[in-house]
Amino acid sequence: MSNIPFQPGVFQSNEDFAVAMDEHDSLKEYRDLFFIPKIDGADCVYLCGHSLGLQPRSAAAYIQQELEDWAQLGVEAHFRARNPWMPYHRLLREQTAELVGAKPEEVVVMNSLTVNLHLMMVSFYRPTASRHKILIERGAFPSDQYAVKSQIRFHGFDPAACLIELAPLPGETCLRDEQIESVIEQSGGQIALILLGAVNYATGQAFDLERITRAGHAQGCVVGFDLAHAAGNLALKLHAQGPDFAVWCSYKYLNGGPGCIAGCFVHERHASANNLPRFTGWWGHEESSRFQMGPDFRAMNGAEGWQLSNPPIVSLAALRASMDIFHRAGMERLHHKSESLTSYLEFLLLETRSSQFTIVTPSDNWRRGAQVSIRLPRNGRALCDRLTSEGILCDWREPDILRVAPVPLYNSYRDVFQFVRRFAAAAE
Ligand SMILES: *Cc1c(COP(=O)(O)O)cnc(C)c1O
Repeated sequence: MSNIPFQPGVFQSNEDFAVAMDEHDSLKEYRDLFFIPKIDGADCVYLCGHSLGLQPRSAAAYIQQELEDWAQLGVEAHFRARNPWMPYHRLLREQTAELVGAKPEEVVVMNSLTVNLHLMMVSFYRPTASRHKILIERGAFPSDQYAVKSQIRFHGFDPAACLIELAPLPGETCLRDEQIESVIEQSGGQIALILLGAVNYATGQAFDLERITRAGHAQGCVVGFDLAHAAGNLALKLHAQGPDFAVWCSYKYLNGGPGCIAGCFVHERHASANNLPRFTGWWGHEESSRFQMGPDFRAMNGAEGWQLSNPPIVSLAALRASMDIFHRAGMERLHHKSESLTSYLEFLLLETRSSQFTIVTPSDNWRRGAQVSIRLPRNGRALCDRLTSEGILCDWREPDILRVAPVPLYNSYRDVFQFVRRFAAAAE
């Protein structure tokens, strides 16, 4: 095995190669920090981190500590818990900022993704008679579509007239940057808000956030991103990329657990934007006078000013367990392994030379994260079920997409190897 080349992108299709790559993986010990689900008593090959990330083994202890402090201190735990609950969400601030490439004041963890999307649109979708359109992707995640359409109606406009949906060019499966740019250039004057998923949930395509933001701002549009499939996946630099806002959930690549508290980014340029309308609650009120319980709202500076309620501590505790792991591993290192692992998956799929499927996800590393979407025109659903029964978990999206996520934190090269071997056998 010693003569195996380890240059990125130079792959071999035998199993020994996968084993050797795992041995040389500087992140290999991170897998043991997670519970790997079992099927029929054996570790499954878990390729669903884009849907629900795995549970860190440490999550229970983080949660247990808060349960103990609640038991022993009751309400006093707000101030006297080992990690006092009043400022508890701040324990996540630096690491969240680091994760998405933002300044600490630009991020906050709160609510859930769709709620945060609505809160952001309340402030940042401000349609006028001449500029009232929203630009999204065709086939955007349903919750985003519903949220956007309901906001349009809420302002008295008609989604049929207000929504511009970007579709791939005929014969293509993904959008081109220059295509997005030209739509923005042509229709920008009527577009109030550009809202794209930074990674498309179905195709796995990653967008050039900086380029889209620049094009949008040049036309006077507000630019926001849904990072549901990008947070904990791409090496984001939100502050520099410059969107006005971004929102994400924490239960996919971020491993915070089902329904975990979500994240929100508001660019520094809006930090003290008291001219923006917003829906308010007491937790967004200036901290020093929050408990004077006065009638008038004074927003905290930065993203925290959009908070509504005191946050669920148990959910924050679970998220901390995972964020501490991300902090140690480092997003750059994770992304580096991610590029290699995803390229390896693509390599093995192409090696099968099968005509039963096509790969939808772009081939360039900078246009994707830890996901490969495979189009199966025939019997894909049955194939996915069969893989599940054999202990290989990936997921199926109607009408014809199998989504496979090799997650650098806990997936191995052998996971990828085993997946492709079983997949290829099932497909033929
Ligand atoms: C997963 C996902 C959601 C889910 O929204 P919740 O509010 O967390 O239930 C929304 N949008 C996108 C793009 C997603 O990928």
